[in-house]
Amino acid sequence: MKETDPNIDSEKSALRVNPGIEQPASINNDALRKYKSRKKSVMNADDFVDGVLSGNRVVLSRAITLVESALDAHYRLAQQVIEKCLPHSGQSLRIGITGVPGVGKSSFIETLGLYLTSIGHRVAVLAIDPSSEISKGSILGDKTRMEKLSADPNAFIRPSPSAGTLGGVTRKTRETIILCEAAGFDIILIETVGVGQSETAVHSMVDFFLLLMLAGAGDELQGIKRGIIEMCDGMAINKADGDNMHRATMAQAQLQCALNLFPVHQSGWKPKVELCSALHNTGIEKVWQMVKYHSDTMKNSGFFELKRAKQLSYRMLDTINQALISRFYQNPKIIEMLPKVEQLLNNHQITAYQAAESLLSLYFEKEKSRKAD
Ligand code: GDP
Repeated sequence: MKETDPNIDSEKSALRVNPGIEQPASINNDALRKYKSRKKSVMNADDFVDGVLSGNRVVLSRAITLVESALDAHYRLAQQVIEKCLPHSGQSLRIGITGVPGVGKSSFIETLGLYLTSIGHRVAVLAIDPSSEISKGSILGDKTRMEKLSADPNAFIRPSPSAGTLGGVTRKTRETIILCEAAGFDIILIETVGVGQSETAVHSMVDFFLLLMLAGAGDELQGIKRGIIEMCDGMAINKADGDNMHRATMAQAQLQCALNLFPVHQSGWKPKVELCSALHNTGIEKVWQMVKYHSDTMKNSGFFELKRAKQLSYRMLDTINQALISRFYQNPKIIEMLPKVEQLLNNHQITAYQAAESLLSLYFEKEKSRKAD
């Protein structure tokens, strides 16, 4: 603004414009430089594979992000990476760890993980959390958990993918296992909450399924579903410390008796119950010995490979099932007819069986005519 009236003291005028401070450029040059260098470093499948195979954790993390992405282009790139990593995978021991919230899963994983790295292993920790869609990752999501293990150069911790159906999360975890193994992690710990269907998913991808329990929390089976007990290869009663020690020892005997009533595993393995304290780092070695003994026994009897082969078949069939289900429900005719058929069903005009039949024949007729075109 220019002052035109010579009678106005320019220094005192309210119209005076202060020089002010220099404004920064509207573009952050630092960010721009980073963005440009990132754009230059767009990675192809071989770059990812090289990075993963050399054990580069940054590239491993980026590869997992690719696997977790909902974008089609990412999915395709991820599949190429997985395919190339596949021959370098399969060498680890995969351990599923479950138990009710508060039993001490993350404390246990941290203590076990630190023990394992101290004896020369490289440990990857993954999680399956079907509730994470709502809670945005209630397990392993909290960065303050497993502080020591996260700082360990021989450990790699990855929270549960926070979006998608259980089927989707399961596929992502399976592919993440392949990437971690290709990156040289020889022990994979997979945490899940002991309350839902995620146990079946985890069971279908691990060599040993460990159930963490508490002593003295009322009913010895603590609301854990019978199916989960049947699936487990071993139990560890955590918090076996201080005043709790006596109750823990009693619970150990009771649980061992309860386990003996379950049908023997096909492999002949009888699940054992150990005591431990994740907090005081006691009994962890014994739990590990149980896992080791199991895998040695299974490898000697051929059941280790047999189980992995079965898991692969299960994975294939599961993928087919998921694909068929999603194609069915995404079919425009089904989308249109489903509420109408449901209405007929609710009005008691047709039976549930007839309703299902009519929708299925509609779907398969549509498929047939689509192919004939
Ligand atoms: P999560 O929900 O199963 O992952 O359980 P956390 O690992 O978060 O542990 C729940 C609480 O139990 C925390 O306050 C832990 O400090 C405590 N805790 C975990 N392990 C032990 C243990 O071995 N002994 C005792 N006394 N407390 C433990």
